[in-house]
Amino acid sequence: MLRKTTFKQMLRCYWVSFFLTLSCFLGVLHASAGDADPSIGKACIFANTIMSCLRECERTGCVGDICFPHCNFSSDGAPLNGPWYMQEPLYIRWKQWDCQSDCRYHCMLNREKDRASFGHEPVKYHGKWPFKRVFGIQEPASVVFSALNLAMHFHGWLSFFILLHYKLAIKPDKKPYYDYAGLWHLYGLLALNSWFWSAVFHSRDVEWTEKLDYFSAIALLGYSLIVAILRSFNVRLEAARVMVSAPLLAFVTTHILYLNNYKLDYGWNMIVCVAMGVAQLVIWAVWGGVSGHPSRWKVWFVVVAGAGAMLLEVYDFPPYEGFVDAHAVWHATTVPLTYLWWSFIKDDAEFRTSILLKKVK
Ligand SMILES: [Zn+2]
Repeated sequence: MLRKTTFKQMLRCYWVSFFLTLSCFLGVLHASAGDADPSIGKACIFANTIMSCLRECERTGCVGDICFPHCNFSSDGAPLNGPWYMQEPLYIRWKQWDCQSDCRYHCMLNREKDRASFGHEPVKYHGKWPFKRVFGIQEPASVVFSALNLAMHFHGWLSFFILLHYKLAIKPDKKPYYDYAGLWHLYGLLALNSWFWSAVFHSRDVEWTEKLDYFSAIALLGYSLIVAILRSFNVRLEAARVMVSAPLLAFVTTHILYLNNYKLDYGWNMIVCVAMGVAQLVIWAVWGGVSGHPSRWKVWFVVVAGAGAMLLEVYDFPPYEGFVDAHAVWHATTVPLTYLWWSFIKDDAEFRTSILLKKVK
């Protein structure tokens, strides 16, 4: 009897440990490092800590001594004594979402504290570094730098507009002589859109803010590659411009549709973005040398610094003091580069206008 029980217990123990090992292994493969850390022998202990913390938090609405008002649900799911519009399902969903987000955040902070006490470096959670929030903003440094980029693009675009329409000579039909004006106006618009969604996404990371940030950035990157080709090869005919840009537009549109409707593949997207980025940097760098443009040093400076900044995005490092990570530094470096880039665009407008005016005369 005793023997039988021991054997049965051993067998059960074997199966339990087998499934635990298997589920842990699958967990390590599947989740980002923060959810199950393969670098340490205690992978499952750490993973279980955060899972039990999340379960506990969603049940009680508290992590340790901190409790969240969003997690106060009444028995039927609607808040008690609330006005009718607060009892709508949408409001409840919002509340549950806030509750989940607060739980995840505080369980993550707790776990990072535990890990730090063991002398471990920070790890990523769902592909993101553990950031400290400021006024509910997830990545304050990236938000500030995104806003600065937005402001810099607005300043650049506005001064470009003023230069074209009020400072340089204009044609009798009141259009500017500069034949790439329309292309740069659209570039400015896409850049403003992209940095706006970047600031929103870094404030609150949810599915739709993430997608809008990614897709706006891809659209900007793809479009700026088209501009690079059109400007560097001096494509001025409308029909030729359409022919050159159509395949690229089709590719960028397909890429966005693929990410949105099929699979949000971060690795593949990174390859596409780096390829489009490198292609335009090379085009501009070579064009600067071949064309002998008077402001080519500005182009070269942006190309070299832009390539260096791109390395930050590829060689990611964790946030310093929980605030400034590689991505935030990358956003910071593009602020002065944006100023210089618009300065080049304005120089180009002046340069080409003077050439075209000489031809007219
Ligand atoms: Zn960003």
